[in-house]
Amino acid sequence: MILGIDLGTTNSVCAVFKDGKSQLIPNRFGEFMTPSIVSFEKDGKIHIGQSAKTRAALFPKETIKAFKRYMGTDKTYKIHGHLYTPVELSSLIIKHLLEDAENHLNEKITEAIISVPAYFNNIQRSATKQAAELAGLTVDKLINEPTAAAIAYGLQDKPEYTDFMIVDLGGGTFDVSIMEYFDGVLEVKASGGDNFLGGEDFTNVLIELYLTKARIRTTQLNPKAKQKLYYTIEQLKRDISSNRPLIIEPFLAVKADKVEITFEQYKQACEKLLQKISKPIERCLRDSGLEPVEIDEIILVGGASRMGFIKTMVTRMFKKIPRTDIDPDLTIAVGAAIQAGLKAKDKDLGDIVLTDVAPYTLGTGVVNDNDLYNSQGLLFDPIIERNTTVPKPM
Ligand code: AMP
Repeated sequence: MILGIDLGTTNSVCAVFKDGKSQLIPNRFGEFMTPSIVSFEKDGKIHIGQSAKTRAALFPKETIKAFKRYMGTDKTYKIHGHLYTPVELSSLIIKHLLEDAENHLNEKITEAIISVPAYFNNIQRSATKQAAELAGLTVDKLINEPTAAAIAYGLQDKPEYTDFMIVDLGGGTFDVSIMEYFDGVLEVKASGGDNFLGGEDFTNVLIELYLTKARIRTTQLNPKAKQKLYYTIEQLKRDISSNRPLIIEPFLAVKADKVEITFEQYKQACEKLLQKISKPIERCLRDSGLEPVEIDEIILVGGASRMGFIKTMVTRMFKKIPRTDIDPDLTIAVGAAIQAGLKAKDKDLGDIVLTDVAPYTLGTGVVNDNDLYNSQGLLFDPIIERNTTVPKPM
């Protein structure tokens, strides 16, 4: 059995391909989503997932989250005198998911397919594989998150030459991809995004708005109060809608006004973030050489895509209502499991060939022979342009 893992910035999900379909695996608490959070007690006890999330409010300095953003970097986290790398922290999450999966399925699992943002470079991809290996899993295939989403929606069953756009706004990463299906091949035509943009940024905007209106200064808040503020506002963010303003009674142990935030005020405060979302979408479309009307289907993925104005923005840009019928938090794990089924050559799956694109332009440094004094220094000579299809290995 190969485990399909969506190793997310805020939550991780796993699933397997069994009895001809993708099956999500509940964790030890019966939930499909496990928070990607790790917390360390002084005596060495390690909390992972839900118990780490619960501890975060009380022990913010002992708790680490959103470390996926630093995969492939030199960043370390120092807790109780120990240094932890994002790879080690990710491996703890993977190990935790693996334990839950083995208990649920009652069988040993040694192999996994893990999803990564399309934007991840080679160093970030190797770091993800390394994390899985540390957790005792072999990973010979990583799958781009939008590719997994496309498979989850069964886009390969659509008519030939259908073009799709996958817009994935998770907790900390934003991916947009345009794909085409033809002749048994699901091809990523263009991809883009921002791996420092996600639902957390929207939560932070709402927090700023709340603090200003409630007349609270951040200097009045200790770390525990800041955590409480974050989790409370994060929950309230889910309720904000055009027909119901948020009414927030004081909930922190500091003097505060009762606050009302309308949808319009929140949307206006998010204007810059919305631009950061629309720009990569427009660029991706340009790279693909398609017009908005040529995109046959748009799929929204990632918890933060539930925000009403994301759907409205995409609908306006493409004059088409995006699809959201699979739970946007679980879509990628479903797709990763289907890919796992494909790899295991499960007889219930037809042959879908997937191709990917190079997310960055790859090239070499050259010097200009005519530049006698080498005033131009080393020049970049592209060999493989951004969004060129990567050939399939034989
Ligand atoms: P993910 O990692 O895909 O689960 O994304 C988590 C992000 O989605 C977090 O920033 C959540 O605040 C956000 N999110 C989840 N559900 C909603 C919702 N109903 N409305 C707004 N944001 C949401």
